[in-house]
Amino acid sequence: MTDDIDRAQDLEERQRDTALRRQATRAGLLGKTMTDSATECQDCEQSIPEARRWAMPGCQRCVKCQTIYEKK
Ligand SMILES: [Zn+2]
Repeated sequence: MTDDIDRAQDLEERQRDTALRRQATRAGLLGKTMTDSATECQDCEQSIPEARRWAMPGCQRCVKCQTIYEKK
């Protein structure tokens, strides 16, 4: 039973990963997103979540600092 659950979770993770990759490839972002985006916010040095880096290729700031930056 435990094995089955483990395998199901494993599969789910792999499918999610594949879906993300497929989305990025379709948008022409694969290979660009993760390298162009900063792992840490330029302003507050907090780490930027991976989801944001995928969604915002080339982003250098966290959501909070980006909002402040855009308001200036
Ligand atoms: Zn920040």
